[in-house]
Amino acid sequence: MSAAAPATVADVAIVGGGMVGASLALALSALPLEVVVVEATPPEDGAQPSFDTRTTALSNGTRRIFEGLGVWDEIVREATPIRRIHVSDRGRFGSAVVDAAEQGIPALGYVVENRVVGRALWRRLRLCPRIRLVSPATVTAARVTDAAVHLDLDGADALVARLAVAADGAGSLVREAAGVAAERWDYDQTAVICQVTPDRFHDHVAYERFTPSGPIAVLPAPDGRVGLVWTLSPGEAARVMALADAPFLAELQAAFGWRLGRLRAVARRVAYPLALTRAASSSAPRTAIIGAAAQGMHPIAGQGFNLGLRDAATLAEVLADAQGEDPGGAALLERYAEWRRMDRRALIAFTDGLVRLFGIPWEPVKRARGLGLVLFDLSPPAKSALSRLSLGFAGRLPRLARGLPLVGPVS
Ligand SMILES: Cc1cc2nc3c(=O)[nH]c(=O)nc-3n(C[C@H](O)[C@H](O)[C@H](O)COP(=O)(O)OP(=O)(O)OC[C@H]3O[C@@H](n4cnc5c(N)ncnc54)[C@H](O)[C@@H]3O)c2cc1C
Repeated sequence: MSAAAPATVADVAIVGGGMVGASLALALSALPLEVVVVEATPPEDGAQPSFDTRTTALSNGTRRIFEGLGVWDEIVREATPIRRIHVSDRGRFGSAVVDAAEQGIPALGYVVENRVVGRALWRRLRLCPRIRLVSPATVTAARVTDAAVHLDLDGADALVARLAVAADGAGSLVREAAGVAAERWDYDQTAVICQVTPDRFHDHVAYERFTPSGPIAVLPAPDGRVGLVWTLSPGEAARVMALADAPFLAELQAAFGWRLGRLRAVARRVAYPLALTRAASSSAPRTAIIGAAAQGMHPIAGQGFNLGLRDAATLAEVLADAQGEDPGGAALLERYAEWRRMDRRALIAFTDGLVRLFGIPWEPVKRARGLGLVLFDLSPPAKSALSRLSLGFAGRLPRLARGLPLVGPVS
């Protein structure tokens, strides 16, 4: 902290205004709390790491939360609904299809570019009188005392808040400063992300295809394009990243097949190394941990952001129901961490299990996988269980995820 700069006092300081931190700030704008958001890179900046050109599959629970935050109308204009999910194992007989109409829901999820979400969240945040946005500014150190968290900033005055929220991503400085350990499991896989234009219209189908070199997710996108998440070993990823467009498309075609006809064009490619990070707890003294700071997952099931948004909706509800209480009080933070425990544990285990199951090259396991997909395809209860997951995974859902207002009369 620079010695001359007087520290600003806030009820809640959210460090990180990415996908999850900005959503929390918007939820808290309904409460009588002084909230500050510190974000290193403003959303308009091309280098913003959260609101980049990646596409994210938003679940129906996320849709409800965004409706409650008043941003869904803007997001849905540029979102592509997923009407069907097709799962297959390359070279095996098994495949499975989950269909939204059969499940009696309009869509299994919605695909949208992260930058669209960022624009909608920040546009609305800038209209909230109680939310102070400090950006660009980076938190460089955090110190926890009995009464508050002191944050040093590069690019702005220091801050003192009764509650600090770590929304600063997988390598969270705030989590570390609060003394919460995070285990990290490197999958030794890299996701190659880009948009591809196929000959045939995707017809709102999302494809998840398991191949010997790793899973390929192909998500429906606007203008007939599809979003690709191609998981490969780091060496293979580096190799395909270096290919010219035509050989890249030829290799992708061979791995994905011809369900969408010829793959014609590919936009800029970005590579993400994949790891599982899991904080030992979602809270610490005067600190709540949300989003990728609490858990960073493999994108195989497309659930990381959806889970992180439930962290934000839950924390907002705990704060809403504790008005008059110290927002950084130990009992309140324990309620938040306890509520999140089951959902986190179940989804991390499910996602990690999926990565391992489809990563096993052993022939009997491959055969069983194929059989599993066939059985799944024949089982209406299994499919409806899977489609219900798009609302939330395990445990009690926060009000916003159930389509109820955060504050006000609740039935
Ligand atoms: C390839 C890939 C595909 C994915 N696909 C899906 C999907 O389909 N569906 C899904 O649900 N999830 C998906 N995810 C997961 C999803 O992207 C993450 O869960 C989500 O981005 C987490 O958001 P966050 O706001 O918690 O963290 P981040 O996105 O990491 O944002 C952290 C923010 O904090 C800021 N920051 C960091 N440090 C500081 C500091 N010291 N001071 C100030 N600001 C700071 C950063 O600038 C950034 O804006 C995917 C992830 C990957 C890698």
